[in-house]
Amino acid sequence: SGPSESHEFQAETRQLLNIVAKSLYSEKEVFIRELISNASDAIEKMRFMTRSGQTLSGADRPLEIRIDTDKVGRTITIHDSGLGMTKEEMMTNLGTIARSGSKAFIQEMSEKNQTVDSKEIIGQFGVGFYSAFMVSDKIEVFSQSSLPDQPAHHWESDGSGTYTIREAQNVSEGTKIVIHLKPDCAEFADETNVREIVKKYSSFVGSDLILNGTKANELRPLWLMDPKEVEPDTHEDFYRYIGNTFDKPRFTYHFRTDAPIDIRALLYVPESRPGLFETNREGADVGVALYCRKVLIKSKAENIVPKWMRFVKGVVDSEDIPLNLSRELLQDSAQIRKLRTVLTNKFLRFIQERARKETKSFLEFYKDYGFFFKEGIITSNEQYEKEELAKILRFESSKQPAGELVSLPEYCDRMNAGQRDIYYLSAPSRQLAENSPYFEALKKRDVEILFCYESYDELVLMQLQQFDKKSMTSVEKEMRMDNTPPSEETDKDSLSSSDQSELMDWVKSQLGPKVAKVKTTTKLESHPCVITVEEMAAARHFVKTQAANFS
Ligand code: ADP
Ligand code: MG
Repeated sequence: SGPSESHEFQAETRQLLNIVAKSLYSEKEVFIRELISNASDAIEKMRFMTRSGQTLSGADRPLEIRIDTDKVGRTITIHDSGLGMTKEEMMTNLGTIARSGSKAFIQEMSEKNQTVDSKEIIGQFGVGFYSAFMVSDKIEVFSQSSLPDQPAHHWESDGSGTYTIREAQNVSEGTKIVIHLKPDCAEFADETNVREIVKKYSSFVGSDLILNGTKANELRPLWLMDPKEVEPDTHEDFYRYIGNTFDKPRFTYHFRTDAPIDIRALLYVPESRPGLFETNREGADVGVALYCRKVLIKSKAENIVPKWMRFVKGVVDSEDIPLNLSRELLQDSAQIRKLRTVLTNKFLRFIQERARKETKSFLEFYKDYGFFFKEGIITSNEQYEKEELAKILRFESSKQPAGELVSLPEYCDRMNAGQRDIYYLSAPSRQLAENSPYFEALKKRDVEILFCYESYDELVLMQLQQFDKKSMTSVEKEMRMDNTPPSEETDKDSLSSSDQSELMDWVKSQLGPKVAKVKTTTKLESHPCVITVEEMAAARHFVKTQAANFS
């Protein structure tokens, strides 16, 4: 073997190792699931590359995962005949945390310096390879890449901050991970115990799993089964396996369709509330994997569902996707676009149906996940898709008591005859909405007004523009558009027109270039004045800060 090089882990990796060692104590067995999942990924990569015609060494070997336990030596070894890793891959993949957003998360966790809920970490993050350091004080990784002309390497670390790497001989294609167990973790060198764990986590792995020479799993591509024949318990296990979590699915959508494209899909909405990763657009990965006839094409197939659907976990299998599709083609093939449109629309209709059939669960879901549909409206380029997304939204309204929500289709159904706009008012709370001068101005006309309490709601509805051919109209805009001439019969409290113009001139001189126009209105009763803006939420924030400076 060659000279041994010593390297430091990336700073975030060291922090993660600390968190893992400290907080995942009760869920130690999870490391087996993580290592099997990595082995399975490596095998799927190998299958994919073989089918897409790459030149690979030892391409005809059987693709399988072997687990061997050794009670005397206190080790558990996981060996896969997958694609393997080159030296560079071992250094980057095992020494750094690649996921964007993960750094911020770890930073936050270690700043708080408190025990973190292990489920939360794994759920949001997938601790992956490092979870093995919960049970181990020394891990060795032997890997032989199947890419041409790559020497094998041996990687070793005690998880405390550094690792060594050197060239190795006589390593067969794939990766072998030897876990030297801590004295109090000897249970993971016990075959009976390990077989139980493997059964629990890995009945869905797409390759043979062999434990101490005996097959330990059954191959079950659940998504290809008849939806009626899958039990909820099986969904739960499968969801946990593919989603890398401990919670349950709150909605399960299992369907097949042949037109306009062949699709077998199994999609889950998590029961847990979205965490930092899911809400952060940059941080989270799409959770849907793409298969073609049981062969994994891509595990985080970000092109087959829009980014706002990143909270959905599942599997999509389509016979119409060519197997040898390159990663580049995966991005802009017409088939992929078709797949994406069908999946998105079917999923939206599924959620709309939950609203009708399981209203209570839907409303809970909406509270936790409504944000994503709003993001969808902002980022979508298709009016049809925006309106389908908008059907999910719910609002409080001026014609309903606080706490009751109305949807846009319901609003349209009960609109006044002749009303052509859907009115909304953006305010931080119901109380402020009801006391707003904008609301006062429209109240007399007896139109229903939707109340939006999130700062981004206004942006969402502006992006939507229309719903069911009706314009989405901010009451602020409505007020600005008001062109009715001031009424002739001025009551005795009104200012004379010369006083009015004098007042206008004074206000203009005080506000200067901060305002475009100053005018009188007869719409207000209890408020002396109101600020209106064209229609930008951002502008409104600007106005707010300016008003604060002015007062
Ligand atoms: P993730 O699986 O979410 O990417 P992990 O920490 O589990 O994160 O693994 C990190 C990376 O190490 C993997 O993405 C993969 O590139 C590499 N890796 C881990 N185990 C194996 C293996 N058995 N064969 C090939 N590559 C592996
Ligand atoms: Mg992994």
